[in-house]
Amino acid sequence: MPFTPNGNHLIAGTWVSAPDRFTSRPAHGPSHSYSVGRAADVAAAAEAAEAAFASYSALPAAARADFLDTIAAEIEARAAEITEIGTQETGLPAARLEGERGRTTGQLRLFASHIRAGAHLDARHDPALPDRAPLPRPDLRLMQRPVGPVAVFGASNFPLAFSVAGGDTAAALAAGCPVIVKGHSAHPGTGEIVAEAVLAALTACGIAPGVFSLIQGGDRSVGAALVQHPRIKAVGFTGSLTGGRALFDLCAARPEPIPFFGELGSVNPMVVLPGALHARGAEIATGWAASLTLGAGQFCTNPGLALLPAGAGAEAEAEAFAATTRTALAQTGAQVMLTEGIAAAYRHEQQHLAAIEGVECLLQAENPPRQARPALYRTSARQWLENPALQEEVFGPLGLIVTCEDAAERLAVACALQGQLTCTLQMEESDLPEARALMPVLERKAGRVLANGFPTGVEVCDAMVHGGPYPASTNFGATSVGTLSIRRFLRPVCYQDIPAALLPQA
Ligand code: NAP
Repeated sequence: MPFTPNGNHLIAGTWVSAPDRFTSRPAHGPSHSYSVGRAADVAAAAEAAEAAFASYSALPAAARADFLDTIAAEIEARAAEITEIGTQETGLPAARLEGERGRTTGQLRLFASHIRAGAHLDARHDPALPDRAPLPRPDLRLMQRPVGPVAVFGASNFPLAFSVAGGDTAAALAAGCPVIVKGHSAHPGTGEIVAEAVLAALTACGIAPGVFSLIQGGDRSVGAALVQHPRIKAVGFTGSLTGGRALFDLCAARPEPIPFFGELGSVNPMVVLPGALHARGAEIATGWAASLTLGAGQFCTNPGLALLPAGAGAEAEAEAFAATTRTALAQTGAQVMLTEGIAAAYRHEQQHLAAIEGVECLLQAENPPRQARPALYRTSARQWLENPALQEEVFGPLGLIVTCEDAAERLAVACALQGQLTCTLQMEESDLPEARALMPVLERKAGRVLANGFPTGVEVCDAMVHGGPYPASTNFGATSVGTLSIRRFLRPVCYQDIPAALLPQA
């Protein structure tokens, strides 16, 4: 049976309809009508979340872990319907949605086992030293505690893994925080069916319904109302630099400023060193083209920038690299994009790049409506260093080659990079001395540094960091993927001489 959305918000266990409606704009299949989010819906969800906080945060970790496992099972029980409406709304292929569903349920289960083990508590104890001179030491215990209700913004490019029950929601629920999701208006039906799975899990586990709400979008004012609501204590966001920055500024300007964990833009530079270009130029070029076009380039880890040796002796190899990349990209046809707005922004960015002096167009073709064809451009390190606009992320299958005369130019470009989610080194043994000089620069620029791979494909695990200095994220000390991401929604509290009967159960 295909899923037919009810088109309502889910507020603390009740489906709530609003008089103002918006119509979904799927890539294919039927459109549906949805309630537009209002400030009143935000207030109702936020008050219910605050009311549920005391009981939910006091639950033993095992009970919260069972809840997360049940959400995963309820998502799996709706697998076919989720894939159907997800592919219709986003235009992403079914195989991608199925893989993303596995990642989403895997994330929920990873957080369940993480909190069962108790590692997230970071518990520390300095026992009392009553006889210490000149002053005695009190008994001091530290533990991480949940911050309170959390707002989550669903991402357009991960309708499951970074949306209603995605990484931000899983981390916040695992931490003991109620969640209010602002659904992305590009996939409201996918959001609704996943919310239905969360509601089923809440009911099955006997958890207060205020622990989870979904408010559909349709109007930008709903996101602003959400981050400004006094009950909200932290925000998780994945999206554009403009939207993220606007919401970050609202969080900072509140009477009580709150942390805004925004994962924003990144061009994910790939530095090809001379030994690697010589030994594996064609292999790196085809791998780069495949990484650039994966998911129509709509990944935050899309490696949009390649630094290429082009000085004395490397000219022919650099030309061959560009030609191989161009051929591989040209063979990829047009791909459907997530929204018409994202497709329009891609077309605009192509025109903008092509018009910049010193930028050579190697591949650019007409894009059909709501679709993207790969594009490739080339410029010199000197031009790139002079023009900050060339640092901006283009969301889509677009690559920019920056040719560098020598190691000094590569280092200068690396030093001038803005904050990134990832930086990649393509290197051979002979490149070690230069790579050693670049490493201290790259690790200050990015959340993840990789060698001889491609950054698309973010492993969900203990050691992953998906974040980085601004503008990659608004909080360079955090990650939005992996078990460490739970720390965004926890706060250390020190208990001094508190009797055992008053300490948190954990
Ligand atoms: P977006 O425009 O930043 O929207 C993300 C979420 O924030 C949506 O829920 C949106 O509401 C809300 N929002 C945006 N600006 C707001 C504002 N000023 N006030 C209140 N709420 C606001 O991102 P998007 O729709 O996913 O994609 C647009 C562009 O973002 C893309 O072209 C791409 O450049 C970039 N992007 C980057 C990444 C990345 O990982 N780096 C990922 C996705 C997109 P609505 O639903 O009502 O629009």
